[in-house]
Amino acid sequence: HQDPLSPGRLEQTLWQASDVDSQMSQLVGLLELSEDERHMRHLLVTLFQEVFTEFFPGCTIVPFGSSVNGFDIHGCDLDLLLDLEPTKSLQASSQAAPRAGSGSGAEDSILTDIDLAATPVPEVLELVATVLRRCVPGVRRVRAVPTARRPVVKFCHKQSGLAGDISIDNRLALLNTRYLQLCAEADERVRPLVYAVRLWAKQQGLAGPLLNNYALTLLVLFFLQTRSPPVLPTVAQLRDMAGDEDRTVVCGWDCSFPRDVALLEPSSNTESSLLAEFFHTFGDFDFAGQVISLREGRALPLPPPALPEASEGLKLGPLNLQDPFELSHNVAANVNEKTASRFGRCCRDAAKYCRSLQYRQKSSKGRAWGLTRLFQPGAVEPGAGNAGAFLINIPLGSTGGSEQLGREPRGRGPWFWEVCAAIGFVLRDVLKCSCTAGRPPGAPSEDLGLSGASVVSEELPMGPDTEEEPQAVGCKRHAPETPNGTELPEGKRPRMNNPEETANWSCTVWHRVWTGRRRVRRQLQHSDGPEGHELELEQKVSEAIVQQEGDGHPAEPLLCFEASARVGGTRWVLLRLLPSPAPPGPLFRDFFHFLQSFLPIAVRRRLGGGPGPQD
Ligand code: ATP
Ligand code: MG
Repeated sequence: HQDPLSPGRLEQTLWQASDVDSQMSQLVGLLELSEDERHMRHLLVTLFQEVFTEFFPGCTIVPFGSSVNGFDIHGCDLDLLLDLEPTKSLQASSQAAPRAGSGSGAEDSILTDIDLAATPVPEVLELVATVLRRCVPGVRRVRAVPTARRPVVKFCHKQSGLAGDISIDNRLALLNTRYLQLCAEADERVRPLVYAVRLWAKQQGLAGPLLNNYALTLLVLFFLQTRSPPVLPTVAQLRDMAGDEDRTVVCGWDCSFPRDVALLEPSSNTESSLLAEFFHTFGDFDFAGQVISLREGRALPLPPPALPEASEGLKLGPLNLQDPFELSHNVAANVNEKTASRFGRCCRDAAKYCRSLQYRQKSSKGRAWGLTRLFQPGAVEPGAGNAGAFLINIPLGSTGGSEQLGREPRGRGPWFWEVCAAIGFVLRDVLKCSCTAGRPPGAPSEDLGLSGASVVSEELPMGPDTEEEPQAVGCKRHAPETPNGTELPEGKRPRMNNPEETANWSCTVWHRVWTGRRRVRRQLQHSDGPEGHELELEQKVSEAIVQQEGDGHPAEPLLCFEASARVGGTRWVLLRLLPSPAPPGPLFRDFFHFLQSFLPIAVRRRLGGGPGPQD
């Protein structure tokens, strides 16, 4: 069973789409839960309901969050609300009239010794955790988190592999889930846009505990409220459309809106490039100086009194996103300065890319185009230990490679080493970087840059060319130098027994080999004729750029970085670049953007495959 979320698979399918619009709609199909997955969630909810009813008569288990809000993706967590209000009422009535309570079941349960209404939340959570641990088959890793803003019990379910949370007091979440669901149903452009923004933010390392999927979704909905004409109505307008049966107040907040999407007027907005517009809008947005209000469908300027009274207590920060119902809650209150400004910067980068031909037009040469490039994990990996790393996905596609590549699709083994050898070859021999291979324990480093299949003759599409004047170029190779082109015997190949091990290189870039390649390539093709191997041609392009600088190499290197490769999934390698010094300047970013599209294709060529996904 292939992981539908594996980046190789996602990229491959999107690569094959005919245009960005179809990429957008295919994205939803690729990510959303299958019927089987939904069924599994339904069975789990039923199981939980049965078990909890035994202990808490009258209680209900209600799913909320992404399992049911229309923005589900494979493996998303299972958010559940355990509603104990009916149990409390039952208990109260049986306490008031002990004999009359017979038959409710409350007196037979563990509740005989506990007054649920008077028990502090942490104790109720422990009780719920105990029931989960002892009585729900397949449930593992149960732990109560009483200190969260919304206290929960976390769990995992072994057979389904699902992780989940049980809240005991979060009725607002049920309502905002229903609101998200209404928006998802209101216009067919909403779901693709939310999926695209969520995945983009995840790949850029922006999404996480600080800026979670709920907050990202609200940003998209707000954006859609502010189009002209609007794609979605404001929450205040929805309140006015609500019928009597839709009127609800939770914790003092008005949560009235139509439950039936048929009550909404279809939007007269016909825009098609909403994703590009989203990036454009938020790339240029004053997050700290205003409050994003979905209720009013506009940004309210700060400081107050622009804010209505209900917003009292709203914790202001670098990103102010007011909950659509709980108006005193800033959904993005935890977002720090750094994340907020990086969000803006990533939006600007994405908006710029969306204006390029590479975004709008399918590549005929197998390079990343349209959404695929947006989804490349191009920015900083989340997590403290990885801060500052730039990632390049190398999906190997369904073609090419040696026999070993085909035989050992999973785990480390000869196929991984062939890919590493190809990476080393491209960095050093094609791009003329100084590149020394690190030594995994017990492994000869020489192999990393040298072994591999022979160069093949096919057109090699190359990355985005900046068409600037080529700058001073030259090349110096670092010791230790290794004999070129030799294939180590099978027995001498480095083996990786420790799954944490990776292949490592220290690289120095001396010349702007990423600049002006297209022009040099054209000149070379013109003088040499169309023949020749594509990787050889790329080698010559680099050499020509190096020569244009004159002999020797500059006193100072242009860039230095550490690179490490590891298996990312089935037929997919993840290369991590750590620039030094960090954070890197614009030069490294330029080089990285070039390498992001150049390297995967060149590696596949080196391995004897085609551009991969387009084959
Ligand atoms: P996913 O689980 O795929 O990340 P999700 O929409 O389920 O997406 P969660 O973080 O699991 O997101 O949150 C579940 C629900 O909890 C949300 O749908 C929302 O109702 C509520 N919620 C989450 N974060 C917040 C928040 N910052 N403020 C208010 N409610 C929130
Ligand atoms: Mg969730």
